[in-house]
Amino acid sequence: MIDTHAHLTDPRFCDDVDSVVERAWDSGVVAIINPATNMEDLGRVVEVVNKYPKVYGLVGIYPGEANPSSWESDLAKIWDILEHDDKIVGVGEIGLDEAPLKENPDLEYAVFEVQLAHAATHDYPVVIHTRNTEKEMWEVMKRQSKLPRAHMHCFSGSIEWLEYVLSSGFYVGFDGNVTYKNAENLRTLAKNVPLDRLLLETDAPYLPPTGHRGERNEPGNVRITAEFLAEIRGENFDTLIDATTNNAKTLYGI
Ligand SMILES: [Zn+2]
Repeated sequence: MIDTHAHLTDPRFCDDVDSVVERAWDSGVVAIINPATNMEDLGRVVEVVNKYPKVYGLVGIYPGEANPSSWESDLAKIWDILEHDDKIVGVGEIGLDEAPLKENPDLEYAVFEVQLAHAATHDYPVVIHTRNTEKEMWEVMKRQSKLPRAHMHCFSGSIEWLEYVLSSGFYVGFDGNVTYKNAENLRTLAKNVPLDRLLLETDAPYLPPTGHRGERNEPGNVRITAEFLAEIRGENFDTLIDATTNNAKTLYGI
């Protein structure tokens, strides 16, 4: 299993990241991908990926995290790290989020679209966050001259949006929230993603699966979501693990 989205650099992991990573390997996780959210987190991502051989990083500016006066020079630093550090395998976490988009639409669109275009031009894979911004995200996608290879993180939304995402060649990730009682819509979406486009994620420390709610989530829990997905999709567990592991390797080149 590969946890394609975990924030090991979150302050909630700073005291015991060694044991968190150890427990992940014990659960059968073979690699973890850690996206960055801002310039401060970026430094921690570079540290963590260079400490653990099977932890890889992504670099980018998360919605609401751009510094209005320095984001362009910050991105120049980000692209330099991406080009030169072999453990940094793509762009992320980038995207659109309802609250910052309402507050500062010009900045949020600019930061997102510049990163998206850079990834497309240089053929870097990208992980995309959307929260209550399906329509706006769709419009952004449609006005790009070229789209990058992408991973839609913590997927939610309409079935039409899923169809668009799949027709664009994107991969689709699900987290522990697919196990929640009221998440019937997420389960319908998860059943409609072809096996060769599906990715496993935890979004740790967020979104712990049922049975662990209220706790800090961690990459080892990706197994619970994988078992749950295999069951609702009517697939063999090992088949789902092999396919999602291959998908992550193909997309991120790890
Ligand atoms: Zn995230």
